[in-house]
Amino acid sequence: MPTYDFACRSCGKEFSQVMSISQRDKKKTACPHCKGRKVTQLMSGFMAKTSRKS
Ligand SMILES: [Zn+2]
Repeated sequence: MPTYDFACRSCGKEFSQVMSISQRDKKKTACPHCKGRKVTQLMSGFMAKTSRKS
């Protein structure tokens, strides 16, 4: 399964999670550090600068 990198907008930490595509769609990723859900996925290979607030 692929690894997805995320950055937490609440505490500013980055973390990785291994999950399938279907899991990624259905599960809201929460920050393991602060449990915040304002996480931004970091695309592998490049940084998505156009992150939207949702
Ligand atoms: Zn956090």
